[in-house]
Amino acid sequence: MEGDRWLLLVPCPACGVPAEVTDRFSLPSTDGPAGHLSLRCATGHQFRMPADLLPAPCQRQLQAEEAELETVVVACRDISRVRHRHTG
Ligand SMILES: [Zn+2]
Repeated sequence: MEGDRWLLLVPCPACGVPAEVTDRFSLPSTDGPAGHLSLRCATGHQFRMPADLLPAPCQRQLQAEEAELETVVVACRDISRVRHRHTG
């Protein structure tokens, strides 16, 4: 069983291009463990952010993915409004 076969793309908080979720982890908060994400976007920004800050469609896809526990390739619908950048 490999736990890192998923790929989830969310809009980069800084520049809006699709960013890959490179890690997921929980940090304690006053309300209990809170899901966080590590992101790396196509232009090199790296972020850690609470999953709560994702657009609702992305959160739903994350939850669905976690429920299924299998390889899922997901592109958040919101990204369709973001211009794609061709880097190569
Ligand atoms: Zn970025």
